[in-house]
Amino acid sequence: MIYLDNAATTRTAPGVVEAMLPYFSEYYGNAGSIYGLGSKSKRALITARETIAMTLGAQANEIYFTAGGTESDNWALKAVYESCRSKGCHIITSKIEHHAVLHSCKYLEAHGAQITYLDVDQDGLISLEQLKRAIRPDTILISIMFANNEIGTIEPMEEIGEIAREHGILFHTDAVQAYGHLPIAVDKMHIDLLSASGHKFHGPKGTGFLYVNGRTKLSALIHGGQQERGRRAGTENVPGIVGLAAAAGQAALCMEERAETESRMRDYLIERIQEKIPGAQLTGHKKMRLPGHASFCFAGIQGESALIMLDMQGICASSGSACTSGDPGPSHVLLAAGIPEETARGSLRFTLSEENTVEELDVVVEALAGIVEKLQRRI
Ligand SMILES: *Cc1c(COP(=O)(O)O)cnc(C)c1O
Repeated sequence: MIYLDNAATTRTAPGVVEAMLPYFSEYYGNAGSIYGLGSKSKRALITARETIAMTLGAQANEIYFTAGGTESDNWALKAVYESCRSKGCHIITSKIEHHAVLHSCKYLEAHGAQITYLDVDQDGLISLEQLKRAIRPDTILISIMFANNEIGTIEPMEEIGEIAREHGILFHTDAVQAYGHLPIAVDKMHIDLLSASGHKFHGPKGTGFLYVNGRTKLSALIHGGQQERGRRAGTENVPGIVGLAAAAGQAALCMEERAETESRMRDYLIERIQEKIPGAQLTGHKKMRLPGHASFCFAGIQGESALIMLDMQGICASSGSACTSGDPGPSHVLLAAGIPEETARGSLRFTLSEENTVEELDVVVEALAGIVEKLQRRI
């Protein structure tokens, strides 16, 4: 099997699994309990929080553990809206956000919010000018993703943060694709809230966090006990959180090296596909893109058909987003980037990890060339 769908999820790293195991079987105490077994769990949570805070240049008490990226996005948007109601009801986001953000926005619109959805250019970048023009006296939040899951484009975080700060508006970023892959400094980028997900950087599924700047007051998401400083109640997922932090620590440690390996393979794959397959069109920004991310549109084919044929040859890829499969329409991200509906149906995404090899990529290019040719001839 050749796995090229790391933007959908990653393999939990062996070291991460190893770090988690004792917290299932040996140190299973409730972190809220008084006795030694409980404090073992409590200490693990403290260490995990510190590790994650360190990777962002944040404070430990600014990290809230959640069950993943979707929850973090929902929490950030809904809680800011609730907390800032008296100040205004206007939120600015983009047309290419993940559905965790877009559908939260739709929900808030039904509850009185007014949302501006910024356009993107053909590379998937928002316009800072359009962002500035969209700001109103009642704007309470700007939520722009760090890097896009479908086309890999990295948005200008520092510039967006600067604009938000100048206007005294909170800035949230869905950094699920970026965290653990790109350097992030919440201070320098003026980020007030940031969502991340463990399973996108070799951590366990169902784990994640929301960073909330200490100056920002956020209402509770889940009511109950005093866990997560009373903002996200429920017995902590100690093994999951330990795994999340282990993956975060590992990612921080070898980020530069991994990014270099991945982007070298990414560029090789892009080059070979464009060489071998006529009409292959790269989607997203050529340079400002995630290290392991290669995405294309192939004229005259259905992405889904190509995926099935790739799978028959043991190759795992995606047509864009795992979360939109089952949704027959072309991707909202590709349409926002101005790609015609017909072309957008032929989208394929290959996302690498450092575990991939150039030999694997050669196999994929060969297989893909045959599949695209076959599908194009059918029409
Ligand atoms: C995967 C993903 C999410 C959702 O994260 P989960 O942990 O799977 O809920 C949100 N945003 C982006 C950009 C993603 O890629």
